[in-house]
Amino acid sequence: MKNKIKVTVTLEANNVIRYNYKIDGEFSKYFTKKREYCISYSDNIEEVPKSISIIPFVTNVLPLVWMFDAELIVDEIDKSFFESINDFKKGYQKMYPQIKFNGKLTYNKLCDNTYKENKKVAAFYSGGLDAMSTLASHIEEKPILINIQGSEIKLKYDKSLRKIRKNLEYTANQFNLNIVFIKSEYREVINEKMINKITKMLINDNYWHALQHGIAIIGHGALLAYKYKLNKIYIASSFTQGDKETCASDPSIDNYVKLSSTSVVHDGYNFSRIDKAENVGKLVCKYNKNVKLRVCFEDFRVENCCHCEKCYRTIYELIAKGYDPNKFGFLLKNNFHKQVKNDFKYRLGLEYSKFWNEIKIAFNEKNELKNNPELNWVLTYDFEHCNKKSKYLIKYTYAIIRRIKKIIYLVRER
Ligand SMILES: [Zn+2]
Repeated sequence: MKNKIKVTVTLEANNVIRYNYKIDGEFSKYFTKKREYCISYSDNIEEVPKSISIIPFVTNVLPLVWMFDAELIVDEIDKSFFESINDFKKGYQKMYPQIKFNGKLTYNKLCDNTYKENKKVAAFYSGGLDAMSTLASHIEEKPILINIQGSEIKLKYDKSLRKIRKNLEYTANQFNLNIVFIKSEYREVINEKMINKITKMLINDNYWHALQHGIAIIGHGALLAYKYKLNKIYIASSFTQGDKETCASDPSIDNYVKLSSTSVVHDGYNFSRIDKAENVGKLVCKYNKNVKLRVCFEDFRVENCCHCEKCYRTIYELIAKGYDPNKFGFLLKNNFHKQVKNDFKYRLGLEYSKFWNEIKIAFNEKNELKNNPELNWVLTYDFEHCNKKSKYLIKYTYAIIRRIKKIIYLVRER
């Protein structure tokens, strides 16, 4: 039987849409048993036509449709978005020549929803360094911030999600910006375990990171793009021009997505992480505000743990640019730097040494860091060879402890 998905969308309340769908063919094993899912917005979206509100579903499943030469059948679809599909598909094809991107989207009605866009812009906002740097770059444009919940923490952990919303609202309020929260079950539809086996084999990466998340996130913005007649939506880049890593969110894909009359901009691709730390630092100084960066995903925490590589890295990036991490949502205890040094010696391994080598270069440029006895270990540490086999036992013991802590934490947060 040919691989096929047929989907319909209904407005359930003035801020909730529901998708019902039927899947035929072999590739149904790459979907979970769920045959409907909801997306709720903290904004009223009842005026948004179906040809727009179908977009988040389409962008969520398109990579699977392409990979398995399937047919995705919708009733109505926005014309500009539909016409952009081939353009952003080319980005995927170029990125992963080892995958054949076939498949097609068919419709009953192609709808022209074009509007005269105004000057308003929006930005996807997670609270991380990339997103906050994008906020810093475009603060004068007063972007509407968009946060999607259901991405890295499942919606059932509402206690944690509520705390995160509060944290993000705090930054939005600091800069007098509107923030729209979206709760989406989009990740619960894909059988990630099954599809990851295929993507690991083909491109040595997981499906979410390699193929799904970029356009799936962008699709959620279609309804707000239409509602606010947005000029553009920014999505912050995680990588920097020249990086060798492949990722579903890339300028060759994101910049080609059209949401009716609204353009999408993959933002900050010209900045390194350390440049982004500087951008955020400048923002805080210029407006004399406090911000709470949220970079840590250890134990699905709401606050930064200040104990993992990502926290350490961000803290040192801020220090390298002359900023006090305590003003950015980190709490540095006594002996913090000694702990970092010891963790690098005994526990931490690095997948990418690049970020720490940039920190090393930046430290070398500042005498006050070079001469600081707590920090100057960075200058001589060999980050290139820090993934030593001897650390594996400690690293994995620590990983098991972390996993147990995470389970306890999540059970308590339900
Ligand atoms: Zn952390």
